[in-house]
Amino acid sequence: MAVMITDLCINCDACIDECPATAIVSADSSPRDDWDYTYVKPEKCIECVDSAVPKCADVCPTEGCIVWDMPYDSDYNDYYVDNDAYVIRVHKKKGLMSPEVSPQPWREAISASDREQHVAVGETLKLYNS
Ligand code: SF4
Ligand code: SF4
Repeated sequence: MAVMITDLCINCDACIDECPATAIVSADSSPRDDWDYTYVKPEKCIECVDSAVPKCADVCPTEGCIVWDMPYDSDYNDYYVDNDAYVIRVHKKKGLMSPEVSPQPWREAISASDREQHVAVGETLKLYNS
């Protein structure tokens, strides 16, 4: 991924226009039928690796709303494909845009432990530039 938006989200949609990867959609456009909040498409999130900070978390007014999830990388293919929290896009020619098919950039400075625990992006500010 990626980052994940939790149910702390107030659906202000402030993050949507900030995302350089058009990875964020409003609740109404979420591919998850059971999700009433703004949603991050992990198959598109690039963790803002070219920026000082993840732009979505930088503008989000709700503390702890945006958290880390695992890298969108082949090592985590099954994690994403079998995860009820995500509905991965199916490309007409390439098929499921899984981490094995379409891995995305991710920040190595964020530990696997922090990702597993879904630590808030804001709590890892000091690591953004390392
Ligand atoms: S971390 Fe960056 S690329 Fe990922 S959803 Fe947030 S703004 Fe978009
Ligand atoms: S900026 Fe934060 S609270 Fe607003 S829609 Fe995005 S994740 Fe939700």
